[in-house]
Amino acid sequence: MRMSILIAVLLALLALLATLQYRWMGEVSEAELQRMRSSLRADVFRLTQEFDGELTRIYRSFNLQVDFNDAGDSFGHYGWLEDQYAHRYRQWLAVAPYPRLVHDLFWVDMDRSDELRISRFNRETNHLELSSWPAELADWRGRFTERLRNRGMAFRPSFGTALDPTVEDLPELVIPLRHRPRFSDGPRLNPPAIVGFSVVRLDRIYLEQEFVPALARRYFPGTEGMSDYALVIVSRRNPERIIYQSDPKLSASVRSSPDAAATFFTLRFEALQNRPADGFSGRIDRPGSFRRGANFAAPGLPPIPAPRPEGRWQLTIKHRGGSLKDVVGSARRRNLMISFTVLMLLGTSMTLIIIVTQRAQKLARQQMDFVAGVSHELRTPLAVVCSAGENLADGIIRDQQQVKQYGGLVLNEGRRLTRMVEQILEFAGIQSGRRIYEMRPIRPGQLIDSALAACEPHLKEADIQLQTEIENDLPLIKGDSAALIGSIQNLLINAIKYGGVNRWIKLQAQAMTGKRGQEVRITIEDKGLGIARTDLPHIFDPFYRGRVVLAAQIHGNGLGLSLVKSAIEAHGGRVTVKSSPGQGSVFTLHFPALPRTARESFK
Ligand code: ADP
Repeated sequence: MRMSILIAVLLALLALLATLQYRWMGEVSEAELQRMRSSLRADVFRLTQEFDGELTRIYRSFNLQVDFNDAGDSFGHYGWLEDQYAHRYRQWLAVAPYPRLVHDLFWVDMDRSDELRISRFNRETNHLELSSWPAELADWRGRFTERLRNRGMAFRPSFGTALDPTVEDLPELVIPLRHRPRFSDGPRLNPPAIVGFSVVRLDRIYLEQEFVPALARRYFPGTEGMSDYALVIVSRRNPERIIYQSDPKLSASVRSSPDAAATFFTLRFEALQNRPADGFSGRIDRPGSFRRGANFAAPGLPPIPAPRPEGRWQLTIKHRGGSLKDVVGSARRRNLMISFTVLMLLGTSMTLIIIVTQRAQKLARQQMDFVAGVSHELRTPLAVVCSAGENLADGIIRDQQQVKQYGGLVLNEGRRLTRMVEQILEFAGIQSGRRIYEMRPIRPGQLIDSALAACEPHLKEADIQLQTEIENDLPLIKGDSAALIGSIQNLLINAIKYGGVNRWIKLQAQAMTGKRGQEVRITIEDKGLGIARTDLPHIFDPFYRGRVVLAAQIHGNGLGLSLVKSAIEAHGGRVTVKSSPGQGSVFTLHFPALPRTARESFK
């Protein structure tokens, strides 16, 4: 009872532990998912920040401003501009971590007949040279001219226009050049006018094939190897144009259900606002010659447009293991499986410990019962032997008939004592592993005859009606004859002891062929007490005695059947029993029969 309460408490504790574990792992997984998400977003942000930072640095470097107080009104040459370009180029190169980003530098302004013209800055000669329009700028030029025509000189393009992904998908930065009017013009009424554009053409091949992959590798190490994330960058204007993909096989899935996404390839205006460009004052010391009429400014517009989050490109990223949720989910399932396995092991170990403890307790109890039983069993024959001896010694018994009777009594009790001592010794031998069987081919009939001869006195004393059915020509079996005779004897003596008032025993021996091949079966049947269903699973345990026989005070020590079982199993056979209380019992010894060849050689 106490044990079952303990088991119930332990099981409840295990169930509680499992529930807590399950919940706790749910929370841990959720936290892990959040952590992975925010770390991924932070990495994506840093990557795009670094990319845009480089663009912004270029923008700052070539973002000039001319002060017309100093510029003068001369037209026709670009000396000031060329000096500025040469100077800023040098400065930019000195600090640029990716100097190959800038491919070319152009200047765009209006000629005398209000046509847009373009000049390329020659870095060797440090001169601006009129050039033809690069093909990729043709579109931009067309739309820009259109706008100028529609809105006249009052049109003032913004940074945003220059980089708007819905307008352009070019590797160019278009930077307006502003001119600060003379103080007398009234700075508030006349904001800086735009006199032309610096166009920085980026190296598209370097940008897409080296710069972007290098950033991807840095922020998502091993992106091209077996990194945890797959990454795709596409043009926002034309999403079919893939700029970079770390794993082409996963691209479709990355784009359809990304773990994180960001747009970039834009200027980080916030970094530009109210700050002079890297070390540049923005003030022009020696102005060049610009045509003042080419003023693109419209009064009243803010000098710098508000920051715009858009970019020309879009980055999408996804965990290779499916998605972050899937990855965390499968890690959680794995953890749960491990934890539950550990809990199950714990539960199993606890159950095993309880079972072993119960068995040990039972064994200890049985041993105590055994000691008590054996002492009791010894006392009766010893008392009989002593009193018989005393009577004989005192000369009380003189009559020949009585002496014979006393002799028989002493002999019987002596046999009982011998049998008990032998059983105890045999049990001790089996337990310690010292019992060695001498295996020889034997005729089953011989075994039966010897066992019956040994039991003769018991059978006679109990006045048993013995019925035998022994098949002729039984196959040979292999075994230790002493041990096997002892086993049959044990079963016979049990049948006599527990055979009740019917005093009938049947001994059968036959050869049968079953699933395990040919075997010899020796069956001993009685019509006595039978065995209760609750006792049946335990009767082969050492020291176990049925409740009915204990109550009926039938002598015994509970060792016989355990000895039979050990001996028969050591011979490769088995013992089976069929019994119903009040009806009787049938014990059968099954022995594997020796193959015919072995039998021939034995004859
Ligand atoms: P013991 O006979 O000394 O009690 P055994 O090991 O031979 O020890 O038998 C164990 C128990 O099995 C017996 O106590 C009895 O309850 C039951 N048993 C064995 N043989 C029979 C039988 N033929 N009929 C009824 N019960 C039996």
